[in-house]
Formats: sequence, C-alpha cells, structure tokens
Amino acid sequence: MNKDIEEKIRERIRLQYPFPPYESQLDLSKDIYMSLAQGIKVSIFESPTGTGKSYALIEGALNYLDDIKSNTLIKVKQKCQIDNDMPDWFNEPDVDLKLNPLKKPNINENKQQKKHVKLIDDDALFDYSSSEETKINLRGQSLNDKIIYCSRTHSQLKQFINEIRRSKHKVRVSTIGSRQHLCVNQSILSKANNNVNKLNHLCKSHKKQCSYYKSLDTLEQYTQEIFDINDLLTVSKKCQSCPYYAAKELSLQADIICTPYQLLMESIDQYIEPIIIVDEAHNFGSALLQTESCEISLNQLNIIVGGIDDYRKKYHQRVKAKTLYYLNQLLQICKSLIDKIKTKQSGNLITLIDFMVEIGIPKLNIIKLIKFVQNKDMRQRINGFIDSSQNVTHYSSFECFCKFISQLILTSQKESILYIEKSNTMKLSKINNYSSFQTLIDKSRNLVFLGGTLQPLNEFEIFKEKVDTNEFIFKEYPHIISKDRCQLLIINAQLDYSFKQKNENLNQLMNQTNSLILDIEKCIPEGIVIFMQTYTFLEQFKQYTKVNNLQFKKQVFFDEKQNSQILDKYSEVAKKGAILLSVVGGSLSEGINFSDHLARAVIIFGVPYPNLDSFELKEQININGNQYYDNITMRAVNQCIGRVIRHKNDYGLLFLIDKRFSEDKLRTKFSTWLQNRITIQNDFKETNFFESFKQIL
Ligand code: SF4
Repeated sequence: MNKDIEEKIRERIRLQYPFPPYESQLDLSKDIYMSLAQGIKVSIFESPTGTGKSYALIEGALNYLDDIKSNTLIKVKQKCQIDNDMPDWFNEPDVDLKLNPLKKPNINENKQQKKHVKLIDDDALFDYSSSEETKINLRGQSLNDKIIYCSRTHSQLKQFINEIRRSKHKVRVSTIGSRQHLCVNQSILSKANNNVNKLNHLCKSHKKQCSYYKSLDTLEQYTQEIFDINDLLTVSKKCQSCPYYAAKELSLQADIICTPYQLLMESIDQYIEPIIIVDEAHNFGSALLQTESCEISLNQLNIIVGGIDDYRKKYHQRVKAKTLYYLNQLLQICKSLIDKIKTKQSGNLITLIDFMVEIGIPKLNIIKLIKFVQNKDMRQRINGFIDSSQNVTHYSSFECFCKFISQLILTSQKESILYIEKSNTMKLSKINNYSSFQTLIDKSRNLVFLGGTLQPLNEFEIFKEKVDTNEFIFKEYPHIISKDRCQLLIINAQLDYSFKQKNENLNQLMNQTNSLILDIEKCIPEGIVIFMQTYTFLEQFKQYTKVNNLQFKKQVFFDEKQNSQILDKYSEVAKKGAILLSVVGGSLSEGINFSDHLARAVIIFGVPYPNLDSFELKEQININGNQYYDNITMRAVNQCIGRVIRHKNDYGLLFLIDKRFSEDKLRTKFSTWLQNRITIQNDFKETNFFESFKQIL
C-alpha cells in the first residue's frame, strides 16, 4: 500500500474525544479506523489494561461509521483528486456506501421485513429454515454497515454502552441476550424451572399465546436510541412487551449490536457482512469452544429411544416412508450411543472416524438427516411424545440429542474429541476453533480483536493460516505509565510450586509462602492481592495459617468460591492495609478493577499450569504441542498482572514467586510492556526492591 495515501487518510481522521486522550489511545483509534477503511480482514490490537482501549475503539469505529454514512471518504477522495493513485481498497464499492442518515427505529418497516425474515432464535441450530430463503430475504434489508460488538458478559457490554453514551457520536445501539436474561413471562419461567433448554422450548412452542409477544407492536413507543439489557427490561416492562424479541427487532435498525460471545455465532446470519469487534478477546476462543461442546447422557438417550419408538408405532401407517427412514436412522444412532456408553469405561477416548464408521454414519445421507432433526415441526412432534412423561428433564433430551448429532456429524477429527464421562455421559468436546473462525471470516466484513493481554497469540494463529498475509495485522501499544511506576520481580524461591515434591514438603512450601508474604507485606502500603495456583492450595494455606495461629500485619481475606461479598469487605479496609488471597483463573483474577490502594502489589505464587486431568486439554496439547500449555498458562498470569495498574497515575509492584518464571520459555511470554521492567532475584531479602519502592512512594 502507498504509505503517503495512508498518511493522508490518517491525518484527516477527526477524532472527537470528550476528554484529553493518551497518545496511545489516539494511535489505537486511528489504527482501528484504518483497518476498517482498508478492509483488513483480521486485526488484532493489544493495549494494556488502563490505557483506555474501550474508548479508543469507540472513537475509531464510530468515526469510521460516521464517515461511511456521510460519504466523507468519497469527499476526501475527490478533494485530494487522487482517484487514480488511490489504493484498491479506496475504490472498492463497499467503502463507497450510499449516504444513509440515521433514522429512528421503524417498527412498521420491521414488521414488513418480518413477514419474510425469520428471526433467528437463541438455538438457531435447532431451528429449521432454508438458508436460501433467509439469504434472499435478508438481502431485502438495509445494507447499512453494522457493527456487532461482543464481550464476555452483559456487565461488560453495559460498560461499553455507557462509554458510547459519553461520546459525541449519534448511533443506535441495541443489545441482544438470551431468553434466560430477557424472558419476562413468569408462568413460562416457573415452568422452565431454570432449565435453559426447556425455557427455549416453551417459548418457541407457546409464544403466540404469550401476551408479551403479542404486545410487540407497542415497540413503537420506544424512542430512545441506545439500549443496554436493563433499558430493554425497563422499557419492555412499561410497554408490557417481550424484551427478548424486542431486542431482535431493534437490532435490525441498530448501528451497533452488542452481544455476549455465546450468542455471536447464532446471530451472525441475521446481518449482511457485519463488522465484528471482539473485546476482552483473550476469553473469546475458550468461550466459543464451550458454547459448541455438548453432551448426552444414557438416561436422555433411553428417553429419546422411547419417544421415537412411540411416535413411530403410532404413526407408522400415516407418515411418509422417508420420515420412517430418518426415524430409524435416529434410533440406530441412539442405540449405538447407548451401547458405547455401556460398554466403554469412563475416560475412554473414542476416535470420531471409528465411531462414525461403527454407527454407519458414512452410509447415511448426512445433510438430509441433519435437516430432518433440525426441522422445527418434526422436533416438536417428537418432543410431544417425550414430554408426555411430565419429567422436567425430558423437555431438553431431544434438543440435546439434536445438537449432539448435528455437532457429531459436522465436526471433524481435527477439532473435536468424543469420550465417556464418569456420569454415564458421552461428551463431544471442541478442542479448537477451526470451523468457527472460518465461519467468522466468511460471514463478516472485518474482524477486530481487542484486549489488554492477548499474548501469547496462539489461538489467533488459526486466522493467520486462513487469510492472506496482508489481510492480517497485529499491533500492540505501550503502557501509559512510566517504568518507575511498575516493576516486576521474579523471585527464584528455594522451592518451586510444581508439586513434584512429595507431600511431606507441603509444610515447607507453606513455610516459604508464609515467610515471603510476611517479608513483602512489611514494605507495601495499602492493599496486596495474592494469587495462588488452585483453590486447593489456597485452602491448604488457610488451614496452615489457622493451625499455626499465624498473624499478619495487615488484615487477611481469603477468597471463597461461594462468597461474593469478600471483595467488598476487602475493599472497605484496603486503604488501611489488607491482603486478599485468591486464585489464578478464579473470579477475582479477571475483569476486577484493583486500582490504586486496592492493589499496590500483586503476588503470584507458582506457575498456574492447568490440571492435566482434562481430556480436552491433553488433546489440545497433543495437537498444538507443549507450547500451547505454556501459552494458556501465561495468558492467565498476564491477566492477574493486569490487575495492578489501572490508570496513568496508578503504581504498584508485581512479584512472581517460582523459579520457573525466570526460564526463557515463560519469561518471554510476559506482556511486551513488562519485558524491560523485569528483575530476577534468587532471594527476596537480597534485593534492593524496598529502596526502589520507597522512591516510588
Ligand atoms: S415471547 Fe418473550 S416473554 Fe413470552 S415466553 Fe417468549 S421470551 Fe418469554
């Protein structure tokens, strides 16, 4: 690409920050704008926590949207009179989109569209609809550039939407959520009894009788343009309409659709080549794997066999031969699954190919069988037979089975494993995101990933394989704080925390841990947050301090999985000096803002390698090599490290206690901004850490 032209475009980007931005924020905003304008397929941006990346994203992406809508890019092109010299991307029709000013949601227009467009439900996988039909009708919709913004939780989506509210850009924003979050029909909710599959099933089969669904017309009363999940619930309550379907209506007219990761793959088909932005992207890959993994139990399979058998017996005279043929194939698969679960011991890994051959899948007309089980009417009829037993869990049995066999048939040996769990359950577990990432590439216009700690980039390597070199960019940004405000000390303590030592050494390990905490706490003002490797080790340490009646200078709080109040209690006294002990990967290790006095130091005891008992993990390591194991571990460490510095004036120290951290293979995997702040010491007491810390204070 012509660098001069790129510079000209960059120079004219008019960012409208409502506050003085950091230099790195401006760079990030402009890089996001440019990656969208150039149509870069996959862009990955890493900017450390506390550098204001969410607002940088808003300015970059919304300026781009504004410029597309107002044809500014075209005007710039004309002004520069450089049409012939412009790079290819500048002349592409998707950049020269028609002027499309903002307009208020037009529910009548939506209704017209709805006559043709089938809204996609949470479980799109289960809803049968010809893709051809959906495509044609979706083409009739507005081809506005839409951004789908995804983050892990609704509270993160709300934070993002609040930032949009601060901006000067006029955009329509809608949030989509699951029925679990948005259904307001108390009678359906109580029948569903917290069973998500049952809730979906009940809504789909009863929505026409649901008064909230029938009142969707009252959506016309909606005048606001930005909706987070609470707004949807509040406005829907006023209008007595269904927020779940209201969200879908509003998203048709929205410029930005906010969705949790789990709903992205299901909703992507509703929009024509959207721009997809994934925030906090370090969690994205694992969330997708989880969403697409599924399981089926022996009990469920027996119920389904009974249901299909009853249906077949009752209607064998009336149904078409083809339907009977598919029903027989389903029974054959169910019975093979039952045999497998009964004959194999738990923990048995089954190769997908062997299993398919065994149950005769290659001989079947696979695509038609999938369509058959995905057909909504057929599912409802079979469900009717299964439901007759009135057992709560039966509602979801056939739905689980449909998902299971669809995944089983569609997935490949390379990306899934099949095994028996202890509880007489067969689990199909996704171990990589090859096909999901391919779908994202195929169905989006641009993919933008953003995060504070994305390195090591292992899971994003899949994108590199799938797109051309010039279609993939990775950029990282420096931290906004100076070197003297944050330092990382690796302490090569005598004992490491690999637990290779025999149990009798546990006591020594506890002694070492205790004495290091005592040494460190003397030098650190205000709050200290400590991360242990596991809840088991944390509990052992807690017991050790109790049994030995150990006292610390600061008040100590131990994280408990079930105690959500612990953070509040710690926060109340952290200013006076307190220690919070938690676990890497636990609820306090990500997304918590330990700014200022809440964490003047973060200490990590041990390299938190995940437990190798997991089949999925073992296979992932088999496929991707040992480096994969190091990478996921260090990404979790980098997340914990990210708790300490939250803004420009923050300061704090990081202590990593385990000599394995100083080995090249791990040390090189710390976030780049930390690399020149690392000091390795053999003994904590021999360091000059206290002096330098006093200078910082
Ligand atoms: S239509 Fe809406 S309110 Fe009614 S059952 Fe379905 S999700 Fe719940």
